[in-house]
Parts: sequence; structure tokens; C-alpha cells
Amino acid sequence: MDWFEITAFPNRIYRLSEPALGPLHGSHSWLVVGEQKALLIDTGVGVAPLAPVIRGLTDLPVICLISHSHYDHIGGAYEFADRRMHEAEAEIMANPTPELTFWGGWLKAESFSRFPTPDYEFSAYAIQPAPPTALVNDGDEIELGGRTVTILHTPGHSPGLLSVFEKATGTLFTTDALYDGEMFFNLRGSNVADGRRSILKLIATEAKAIYPGHFETMGSATFQRVAHHRLNMIGK
Ligand SMILES: [Zn+2]
Ligand SMILES: [Zn+2]
Repeated sequence: MDWFEITAFPNRIYRLSEPALGPLHGSHSWLVVGEQKALLIDTGVGVAPLAPVIRGLTDLPVICLISHSHYDHIGGAYEFADRRMHEAEAEIMANPTPELTFWGGWLKAESFSRFPTPDYEFSAYAIQPAPPTALVNDGDEIELGGRTVTILHTPGHSPGLLSVFEKATGTLFTTDALYDGEMFFNLRGSNVADGRRSILKLIATEAKAIYPGHFETMGSATFQRVAHHRLNMIGK
């Protein structure tokens, strides 16, 4: 059985999920395919090779955008040569300890409903160092050929957290800045006031299709409801 579950969305967008992990132990990675390049947003927990799976979807050069340095988004980053992220968490990617990447004490053998291979040893789990090869910041555009995405710096859950917006299609990749499930603004590096501003920034995109790092995709009505619910929960 394949480790990654691949779902195709309109506009040559693919979601790669890890269903053997629950929604808060694994995450969604997203592949956006242009005419000349493809953008991979996040890379899963890193227990099964990701690059060959991406190669099965596109043969274009891949830009790997790391939304933030938590283990569930960075495990496969080392498999890609072109790695981009925000400066605030770049050092963690060079020295990705269990504590700094948050899997220590959280991800356990029991978190898996099955392992990627029968002989997989969770005791050997580690995040491979994968420092960014380029830094990106709020407002930066990435040209994929025939389509352009804009980087949004959306800190709060973590200091360097990035979201991605494609204006032409109204598609918003919210990563861990907003999703329809339990969220965390109480971690080391979290900042509730930043999180609030970031959610307002996401609302301001008026996105139509919202593709998060965890849980289900959202249309604009659900997105508005989830965003305002979250704003109420985290207060002023
Ligand atoms: Zn996170
Ligand atoms: Zn996450």
C-alpha cells in the first residue's frame, strides 16, 4: 500500500497526505504545477521517500517551499535541491532536533496505524537536516510559468510560518496558519497577536478555494466561518 494518498484538485494542484497518521500527526503537502516549474508546499513527516512520488506527478523542476519547521511539514525536504523558507526558522532546518521540530514527546510509534514498510523501525526516526537554499518573505512572488503565486508571511503558530496565495485562481494554501481543527498558538515560538493578524491577512485575500496543512479543504463560506471562529477563540 502506498504511503502517500494523492488527490487531484482543479488547476493542476495535488494534495499528498499521510493517512496512516491522524490529522494532527501528519500533514498535507501540496503540489502546484506550472508550465515550467512546480511548487511543492511542505514535505510530510519523512518516513517514506517523497521525491519519487512527486516525479510521478511532474517531471518539471521542483521548488520546495517549507511553510515552517515543524516535523510534520519538513521530513522530506532534504530530498529536494531547491528549498525555500522564511529566515525566522531557517536555523532549525540546519539542526532539526526532536525538540526544535516538535516531534519529541508528540510523535510515537502508536501515532501510526501502519508503518510505511513492514520492517520500518520508528526508533530510528529522525529529521534530516535541510537548510534552505534561498529565503523568502511576505509579498515575494514565485513564477512557475503561466502561473504566479505570492508568499504570505503568516506567523502566530510559528514565527516564520508561510502561506501561499494564487490570485488568478483564488487559491489559498493556509498551511498551519488556519485550518478547520484544533490549532496551536501556545508552542515555543508561537505568538497569539501575530496569529490574529495573520488570520485577518488570510481573510483579506477573499480566497475561493482554501487548502490547509491539516484537516479538510474549505470553500469561501466555511473559510470565513472557521476564520472568524478562530479569531473569537484567540481573543483580541
Ligand atoms: Zn506546525
Ligand atoms: Zn502542522
